[in-house]
Amino acid sequence: MVSGQIDPFSVLAGQEHVVKRLDAMASDPPQSIVIEGGTEKERVALSLYWAMRLNCKEAPAPCGTCAVCRQIRDLAFSDLLFFDGREGQIKIADVRDTRSVWGQPPNGDGYRVSIFAEAQAFGVEAANALLKSLEEPRPGNVFVLAAPQRERLLETLVSRSWVVTMAWPDIRQNDAEINEWTSALVGFWKSGRGWFERTSPKGAVGKDLAQQVVLGMQRELREALKGQASTPVSQQLSQSFDLRGLRRIDLVLLQAQDSLNTHVAVNPSLVLDWVATRLV
Ligand SMILES: [Zn+2]
Repeated sequence: MVSGQIDPFSVLAGQEHVVKRLDAMASDPPQSIVIEGGTEKERVALSLYWAMRLNCKEAPAPCGTCAVCRQIRDLAFSDLLFFDGREGQIKIADVRDTRSVWGQPPNGDGYRVSIFAEAQAFGVEAANALLKSLEEPRPGNVFVLAAPQRERLLETLVSRSWVVTMAWPDIRQNDAEINEWTSALVGFWKSGRGWFERTSPKGAVGKDLAQQVVLGMQRELREALKGQASTPVSQQLSQSFDLRGLRRIDLVLLQAQDSLNTHVAVNPSLVLDWVATRLV
């Protein structure tokens, strides 16, 4: 195996529920799927599994050992296009250059699978170029957008895709530090106390921390919205807010994320303060 290569079968142990879901969709695959949750490695593994599932001719597919499966694992299959956001931004030129290929049927008799690994690394222009391709029917072509959370992708891309959620690596053992922040935030929404002493010390909130807090709260919110509050923070959310309130939190978090991702000079502690005060 090439170094750094990912073998879907060993990596996906423990993610059987999403594997089954993909198997169930394989006879009539949606044009685009978003894979979220899991680790970066698991997301790549599931994307490759999907490509194998749609192209392996052995039964039960995918076998993992035939020429097609091996070529997919080696990223050397003629109907596999792999855009690697792990290595930096996915560029407009890469997407634009491929649009003529997407207009054609696949080389073989399976599907051409275009995988965008860590698709949050799209530049805005590249994401919009892909969106144009998703808006036109592309027989025989399917797309995979893999990202840590759907919120990190252009909303219009997500809304055109089927979302597959892998088991979150850490919702129950969310980083202890992030947990403190998300609990403090919900506490402040309920009581109006206990927040600003966290964000006001100079240098207390870096951009990375602010992003982690927003993502952590989005995970908790997702649990609460599904009616499956399994953590203290998601339980507090369910108890303190009705559906409208939860949706409002969702919008506020999306705006916060947007400003953290797109404005270089943003002050991260002000963004978190803005999130805190919008809901009181
Ligand atoms: Zn095979």
